[in-house]
Amino acid sequence: MAENKRRVGVMGGTFDPIHHGHLVAASEVQSTFDLDEVVFVPTGRPYQKEAGDVTSAEHRYLMTVIATASNPRFTVSRADVERPGPTYTIDTLRDLARNYGPDTEMFFITGADALAQILSWKNVDELFSLAHFVGVSRPGHELRGEGLPVDRLSLVQIPALSISSTDCRLRVMDGAPVWYLVPDGVVQYIAKYELYRSENG
Ligand code: ATP
Ligand code: MG
Repeated sequence: MAENKRRVGVMGGTFDPIHHGHLVAASEVQSTFDLDEVVFVPTGRPYQKEAGDVTSAEHRYLMTVIATASNPRFTVSRADVERPGPTYTIDTLRDLARNYGPDTEMFFITGADALAQILSWKNVDELFSLAHFVGVSRPGHELRGEGLPVDRLSLVQIPALSISSTDCRLRVMDGAPVWYLVPDGVVQYIAKYELYRSENG
């Protein structure tokens, strides 16, 4: 029965590093769709980004664990970190569907910038058969669902947080603070492992 299905949000990202924009988006969608769980899935190597451009998957995974640890509804999956080769969302959703089983309904959470690219993704039809898509607003990016299947897509306005991982990395490189942009434990993790101190991380 559909109403007994477990409702799981899927928050994919590079999380290099994870920041409060990601966490607010996940929290807001959890509440709006009454989700039992939101699973954060750090990418292995994102197919859009070159190998050397991204911090090691293990650091990104651990920062995601630290950032989500206090929320009983947030979990972290190693599915993409463990899969060799570049990360494609279709593989993420297939793996999660297999792990969670048929009694789970998946909600793929994505920012307006990523949503705009979805039509260019591999296997669009299968993507929409595996999950309901939830597009969240993001400052600087207009939220539009044109061309995407309306019955499988919802657009959600979230409190605007003009934070990006790119800006966080640049701040660390410049010696500027990232306090309050990322969770305290992530500030400390970045300092401990001296992440983002130079161009090659
Ligand atoms: P980068 O600057 O390295 O691209 P990012 O801040 O965009 O990092 P990602 O890991 O690329 O972070 O994003 C993961 C997901 O979170 C994407 O769907 C993205 O649109 C969404 N997202 C990122 N930042 C925000 C934000 N401030 N508000 C809403 N959604 C966001
Ligand atoms: Mg991004």
